[in-house]
Amino acid sequence: MGAPEANGIGKQGFNYRFNPESCKQCEGRCCNGESGRIFVNQDEIEAISRFLKMEISKFSADYLRKVSYKFSLKEIKANHNYACVFFDSKRNQCSIYPVRPNQCQTFPFWDYYKDKPEELAAECPGVVF
Ligand code: SF4
Ligand code: SF4
Repeated sequence: MGAPEANGIGKQGFNYRFNPESCKQCEGRCCNGESGRIFVNQDEIEAISRFLKMEISKFSADYLRKVSYKFSLKEIKANHNYACVFFDSKRNQCSIYPVRPNQCQTFPFWDYYKDKPEELAAECPGVVF
């Protein structure tokens, strides 16, 4: 990711920028809304377990679901909304922020959105063109 500038952070190959200041007013739309998958690899599972001071087996049973041959963080369903199990809805923030998975750290610069920036902008108010 490039250095923050007045109009946000840019990344080579992406035709949009991101203003992290927007996260303060946003209700964590990237962490809740439609059902999704928040993939975690073995290193991330270990890091989050350590952060939570939990045995990996207990952490896995409580917070992971298997998706094909991968693992995703579980979601909590409330009405028609799905939130990541680690989304703190009272504070509108991630409760495992220092060890959040790479998938979360790299948002909104996902290859998927490279040619769909409008779809992304509809979800993330921090996207600027
Ligand atoms: S949707 Fe965008 S602005 Fe909102 S919390 Fe996520 S990254 Fe920040
Ligand atoms: S791990 Fe944190 S940043 Fe990632 S989806 Fe869950 S609450 Fe959001």
